[in-house]
Amino acid sequence: MPILPIVTYNDPVLRKETKEIIQFDDSTHQLIQDMVETMYNSDGVGLAAPQIGKSLRLFVMDGDPVLNEEDEKPGLMVFINPEIVETKGDDIFMDEGCLSIPGIREKVDRPETIVIKYKNKGFLDEEKEYSGWLARIIQHEYDHLHGRLFIDYLSPFRKRMIKGDLAEIDSGKKEVDYPLVPRD
Ligand SMILES: [Zn+2]
Repeated sequence: MPILPIVTYNDPVLRKETKEIIQFDDSTHQLIQDMVETMYNSDGVGLAAPQIGKSLRLFVMDGDPVLNEEDEKPGLMVFINPEIVETKGDDIFMDEGCLSIPGIREKVDRPETIVIKYKNKGFLDEEKEYSGWLARIIQHEYDHLHGRLFIDYLSPFRKRMIKGDLAEIDSGKKEVDYPLVPRD
């Protein structure tokens, strides 16, 4: 299975609204499989299609590594054409990072609970409620499908604080132990 290179934060594909997936066949299974391999290879808990240069409404995730011991561990999850239909609870302030913005972790406010409609990896319709870390990762990945990045939510002060790190990523000088799409 090929490990795909990941695009970094200022690649235009990360800012585009993605297209709905309309083909449900082996090529979609293959794309999902490649994204799963790529996510695990980079020790990520989530990966959205734009991050491998595909402007499609698809993300994969496995939040198990960040869940608490007592939590149920759902393992690998695949979200095709997802739509968040409801958010609930208070906003909570939690740490986030992104494979397209390596080395930067910042706290972001998001609703605690979401309800999401999507097709799963078997292309079957589901509607489920998620809270805590899973809801956090889902919202982060969902943002990727709408051209949003977690750094967009930072205060002007925090944005200034990470400017140097972003410039390093942009210059292609950031050392990362998974393949990135080279900057030109
Ligand atoms: Zn991300």
